Amino acid sequence: MLAMRGIILDSCCPLCNNFLETISHLLRDCMVAKDFWYNLKVPPEMVSSFVDMDLFYWLRVNYQSKVSHSSLVPWSYVFTFAIWNLWKHRNGMVFNNTVLNVNLHIVSKYQALEFYYCVGKLKSQRSKVVCNVSWKKPPSDQIGVQNLKIELDAKVVVELVQSKTPSNAFYSSLLVDCKSLMGKFRIAKCNTHSVK
Ligand SMILES: [Zn+2]
Repeated sequence: MLAMRGIILDSCCPLCNNFLETISHLLRDCMVAKDFWYNLKVPPEMVSSFVDMDLFYWLRVNYQSKVSHSSLVPWSYVFTFAIWNLWKHRNGMVFNNTVLNVNLHIVSKYQALEFYYCVGKLKSQRSKVVCNVSWKKPPSDQIGVQNLKIELDAKVVVELVQSKTPSNAFYSSLLVDCKSLMGKFRIAKCNTHSVK
């Protein structure tokens, strides 16, 4: 993209130093990438996608694949970690002068395993369980509270609760409920909270 905009860059593949670096070359067609995929053991069902397939189609058929890898983890997980690692590895070599990691396929496989058994497997096994829940009003004589003192820092609310005839039509039904509830206690007070 930068080269297309006239910015002169070294466009040679940093993995093999032999071909123009394109996404499909870097992730799939480069000899280093080919070794990486070979060592990672691409499932036989997916091998044909690694030959001259359109880049986006190749990515899609692999990350949507339903086949399993030899490690028994879905290939889609292994593939996703693999291309992520290839890209990170390329950036490390270009920007941090790291050296080629010939064990990158092992790293990718174990990351996919860890992710699958910690997150992915649980997600696929999660089943919906319907639990009916309800609330039953306890008998008023079993609440165990006789005295109630409520402190608020909202003077307006306290005045509304204490008023004999609530003037606020919007809250009046709520206030009636609150007063009715307070009437269940032997002593019920509602004060403004005193800030010390
Ligand atoms: Zn290359």
